Amino acid sequence: MKINKNYLNLEDSYLFSTISKKVHAFKENNPNSKVISLGIGDVTLPLCKSVINELHSAVEDMGKAETFKGYGPEQGYEFLRSSIKSYYESHNVKLDLNEIFISDGAKSDVGNILDIMENNNTVLIPDPVYPVYVDTNIMSGRKILYMDANKENNFLPLPDCNIKADIIYICSPNNPTGAVYNHEQLKKWVDYALNNNSIILFDSAYEAFIGDKSLPRSIFEIEGAKKCAIEFCSLSKTAGFTGTRCGYTIVPMELVFDNVKINNLWLRRQTTKFNGVSYIIQRAANAVFSKNGQQEIQESIGYYKENAKLLSATLNKLGFWFVGGTNSPYIWFKCPQNMTSWEFFDYMLNKINVVGTPGAGFGKNGEGFFRITAFGSRENILEAVKRLQTL
Ligand code: PLP
Repeated sequence: MKINKNYLNLEDSYLFSTISKKVHAFKENNPNSKVISLGIGDVTLPLCKSVINELHSAVEDMGKAETFKGYGPEQGYEFLRSSIKSYYESHNVKLDLNEIFISDGAKSDVGNILDIMENNNTVLIPDPVYPVYVDTNIMSGRKILYMDANKENNFLPLPDCNIKADIIYICSPNNPTGAVYNHEQLKKWVDYALNNNSIILFDSAYEAFIGDKSLPRSIFEIEGAKKCAIEFCSLSKTAGFTGTRCGYTIVPMELVFDNVKINNLWLRRQTTKFNGVSYIIQRAANAVFSKNGQQEIQESIGYYKENAKLLSATLNKLGFWFVGGTNSPYIWFKCPQNMTSWEFFDYMLNKINVVGTPGAGFGKNGEGFFRITAFGSRENILEAVKRLQTL
């Protein structure tokens, strides 16, 4: 047996382990200090009431012969796909039920989709970036080109017609930067993909944080996108499903490469290798799309967004350059006085006992930048804001 040697090309990620080691050492040397984390990448508020009620009711179903469920429909239960279809209709995107695939989250599908694409495709990935896009392509040995996201382009890189790529990753609202593409900018990407016979893998995991009605929440709001894009979405950050696990992927019927419908290929891949999401969890996910569910999740999202607003207002006041924080739970700011992102990390930890995530951990263009998130408690955010002002 020979291993897949591409795995040996993966770089170890020391980002979060280094952060935790540094914080641990600091706390040992300063036992009376209260360290506040603005680096939390997970939700902290619990599942909403409608979801919990639906979970209980679905569990009861499983205990009665009349309502018990065994293997489910391969793309997901129709009740959930219909709800997602209506959700998209509410932002003017018409979908066919067969274009919606229920998943156990965006990370799995973003990685697994590569199964149906040849390994010698060239991939274009923004830098800085959510590391999964890079690592999954290294695992399959694809050639990766990077597009620079930086202060000059407000961390929203646009296509360069001199660069030819087959697979393009776009994440909007972005992790780690919080930057969001507008219609005009996404149209440029769609036009590029159509002209170059490329596919766009669009990650909309944070779409529910978009409050500005003029900004697109789905790439399918852009004309032509159904011919060149797949969209990955998740209930993780939208509805606190990071531990519950459910998402969905939209593969349009119009998407055809090499004279083959991509939807058919993905269906074949999923029905062979994916076991689907449990009935109980799909019922819970369905509750997210109910009228009450939508109101309840908006309360939690509103809480995080208020946190983001408090943090952005402070950064503004202190004269930091930053993006994000308005239609996103992430804020990405320039470290002061040309500090590297790790120097700034140590400075914040030592001076005000506040922790964030050094931008260098997300790619070379992250050097000199810092990511903070709005997922903490209000009490901690207010305390962090106070401490930032003293710094
Ligand atoms: N995509 C992006 C951009 C993310 O930041 C995350 C999680 O942090 C995911 C996908 C993963 O989502 P899920 O929990 O649905 O796998």
